[in-house]
Amino acid sequence: MSVVLSVLLLAMCAGAALSQQSQYVDYRAGTLNLIISAPHGGSARPAAIRNRTAGCYVAATRRCEYRHGCTPDKSKCPTATDKDMNTFEAAEKLRQYVYELTGRYPYFVANKLHRTKLDPNRAVNEAAFGEPLAVTTYDFYHAMITAARTALDADPRYASHLLIDLHGQSHTHELTEIGYNLTAAELDAGVYDLQRSSSIRYLANKFGNSNQVVIGNISLGRYLEDAGMNVMPGPREPRVNGRKYFDGGYTVETHNTAHSDAIQIELARSFRLAEAGQFDTNVRNLAEGLVRFLRQHYPENAGAAV
Ligand SMILES: [Zn+2]
Repeated sequence: MSVVLSVLLLAMCAGAALSQQSQYVDYRAGTLNLIISAPHGGSARPAAIRNRTAGCYVAATRRCEYRHGCTPDKSKCPTATDKDMNTFEAAEKLRQYVYELTGRYPYFVANKLHRTKLDPNRAVNEAAFGEPLAVTTYDFYHAMITAARTALDADPRYASHLLIDLHGQSHTHELTEIGYNLTAAELDAGVYDLQRSSSIRYLANKFGNSNQVVIGNISLGRYLEDAGMNVMPGPREPRVNGRKYFDGGYTVETHNTAHSDAIQIELARSFRLAEAGQFDTNVRNLAEGLVRFLRQHYPENAGAAV
């Protein structure tokens, strides 16, 4: 058996074994070099997990501690507990539409716990407040993303892969926000150090670290604009200009490497809360733009054995 196949099988077996340890993570293996993660769309609120509250402020260290049994300080150590409505559903539909467009399923990792119980897009203490079942779920969620990445690293068809971390926000500008771990200040200046701080070092390196990978015709923003979406940043909206904007988070920070990229997509409220037929159209548009972007920048190796 080849080394590559062995690694693939190991990754798949790890997934199968671990899947019995978490009923609160929906993990589905794929065959395309795309990973879709959805941390904030879950609804389950098991009584076995105490609710996340605010962290406690420790004056001596000037730090927040995230655990139960101390005094929560909502002003100094707030936590976000709102669900990103319809993002679990959007992620599932996106998986299906990507399959219809490519003939291959992306990898899929979705948290089924409500955000009052677990926030997988934070470091573990803030994510789970030390609650054992929440910690187990958190570990499994990130282990499945890692298993997907490991499988794709070993897949001879692909030189690189892309993770999309799918979220929703309700900012009044109604633009879907694309996060690369570049701050609003960096975007407004139009000058960024992509190799130091971005979550798309692989793509940036292919284009000489040009800011065009974020705001130009080669950017994901351009592909999503062409698919009918209103996004920021992209060629039409290269700057934040004082508007509310989520620039990235724990997942895209943690799960990118020099040879694989991670991008956060924060779907606009009007995208997520559209009536059923329009919601399907919106997700279909997202799938079309994303697949074109993937094929252009993360193509299958020419002549690779399947
Ligand atoms: Zn979110």
